[in-house]
Amino acid sequence: MTIKENVDKILSNVDAAKAASSYSNQSVSVIAVTKYVKAELAREVLENGISHLAENRTELFLEKYEALKDYKVTWHLIGNLQRRKVKSVINFVDYFHALDSMKLAQEISKRAEHQIKCFVEVNISGEESKHGFSVNELLGILPELSKLENIEIVGLMTMAPFDATEDECNDIFGRMKKLQVEISEMNLPQIPCTELSMGMSRDYEAAIKNGASFVRIGTEFFKNL
Ligand SMILES: *Cc1c(COP(=O)(O)O)cnc(C)c1O
Repeated sequence: MTIKENVDKILSNVDAAKAASSYSNQSVSVIAVTKYVKAELAREVLENGISHLAENRTELFLEKYEALKDYKVTWHLIGNLQRRKVKSVINFVDYFHALDSMKLAQEISKRAEHQIKCFVEVNISGEESKHGFSVNELLGILPELSKLENIEIVGLMTMAPFDATEDECNDIFGRMKKLQVEISEMNLPQIPCTELSMGMSRDYEAAIKNGASFVRIGTEFFKNL
């Protein structure tokens, strides 16, 4: 397989999932997660029609950002971010997907030189090992989040458990969609919450069928090369 073949296959699966989705006119941005590969392979993905790239670690993010400066890329930081690293990276990030504490939100707002688009991470499955807010915690902090000047809550992000069945994925993703709509309808300042970042290599089709607008795909882009 070539990168081009992997890209084409993913994009056609995305189209099929959109067609099977309950939501009409759904826009889905496909993010290539390049954490497993060097900048050369990330460049090949860009040259084959993908414009969103993601990394989960600060150092690797900055390395790729520097190496791919000549390309027009929408940059996503998807991994849990330590507060002491916020300053070095946040102003290069277009979307941050792992807002998982109020303290982190405050640090981002303090260090940001423009409004940063953030997804709040929700631990909807309640797994012990997962980061993110519970639904009740999230509803509780919304008023505070909405006051942070340099943060825009564009939506919610989640990860399904690694071993979730298709039914479990549908349940989790369906509940995320409901929660996203509920928060969006509150019309809070700086919390449009119109987007949903969910779906990885093994479950992006289920996520799209349940209303995902950003999917984060790594393995599938780089397999069988
Ligand atoms: C690595 C990673 C992905 C991509 O995972 P794949 O299974 O390789 O598609 C998506 N989201 C997050 C937060 C990740 O860390």
